[in-house]
Amino acid sequence: MTSRRKFVATSLLGLAATAVPFSGESKDITLLKKKSYKHWVWTNPDLRDTDELLAERYKQYYQAGVRGIFFENDSEKHFRAAKAQGLEAHRWMWTMNRGEKTLLEAHPEWYAINRKGESCADKPPYVNYYRWLCPSKPEVQAYLESQVHDILKKDYIDGIHLDYIRFCDVVLPVNLWDNYHIEQTRELPEYDYCYCDTCRSKFKAWRGTDLSSIQYPEASLSWRLFRYNAVNNIVNNLAKVAHGYKKPITAAVFPTPEIARRNVRQDWTNWNLDGICPMIYHGFYKESVSWIGDAVTEGVHFLNSRFPLYAGLYLPDFKNMEEFGEGIKQALQHGAAGVSIFGNPSPEVLSTLKLASAVKMI
Ligand SMILES: [Zn+2]
Repeated sequence: MTSRRKFVATSLLGLAATAVPFSGESKDITLLKKKSYKHWVWTNPDLRDTDELLAERYKQYYQAGVRGIFFENDSEKHFRAAKAQGLEAHRWMWTMNRGEKTLLEAHPEWYAINRKGESCADKPPYVNYYRWLCPSKPEVQAYLESQVHDILKKDYIDGIHLDYIRFCDVVLPVNLWDNYHIEQTRELPEYDYCYCDTCRSKFKAWRGTDLSSIQYPEASLSWRLFRYNAVNNIVNNLAKVAHGYKKPITAAVFPTPEIARRNVRQDWTNWNLDGICPMIYHGFYKESVSWIGDAVTEGVHFLNSRFPLYAGLYLPDFKNMEEFGEGIKQALQHGAAGVSIFGNPSPEVLSTLKLASAVKMI
């Protein structure tokens, strides 16, 4: 089979089959514009994996259309094994949520403080591992920059992927309200950050207004914007570091620009990145698979082609492979440059990914 024949045959398996009148492939092939997608996998490297196993695993990833891996930890063996199979190997880094004991003990003053005056250093919200740093402190910025330097100076690391790059959730996804026995139809003070002295004084210097003189700070547009900008500054400075190494920087973010700002004060369409992976986890929001397409549409619209969007899909949210395939198609049809998979990329998952990505644009 020639490569052109393969291309047409594959396209028949996708959505284009219902839309393109194939009266003769040599004529109608010109109607098809080939578009290749770039898929990703989020994973935590298991140090017990053997070289043979990794070579085979990553070869299968590549054959299914995966082009990059976000590794939650450093493991030179995994990074090099992935690269040997043609994949990009990026380091996935927890950014603002930092619960490591050494940092908590050395710098409790770097942690964010809620509207009740409680610090994440000794009173974390929701769960014990929620230890958010304050994005307004220059020391925090410098600390994160030095970490990105340490990661990217390694020759086997292709890029940096920021996670937890935001404030603590002032509003949780609705699916979690029952879990935590919290009804968050308004912004509650114990989840609203950061009211530390640095944030207060910087806000006053910027707007000339004392935060404590604002009756409803949770409703202040300037205060909201200040906090968007605080995280934007962190990201855009980390982007400068990454680009200094000529390496890409991406991030895992909340599913749409609107939800990101509202729930976690994350303004990701204003970041200077090379790609973004919104976690379009429909189950978390009690939404259907078709909402994945809506979320991608909104993100792509506000990004305005500044950088590609890869739709983050949460495997446990899909009832079966047919539904997962539909989720992939929803993402790709609405403008995603690929998907990023959270969950185990089993052979079944990989073959679904390959098949669903065979959709060609007309
Ligand atoms: Zn602060």
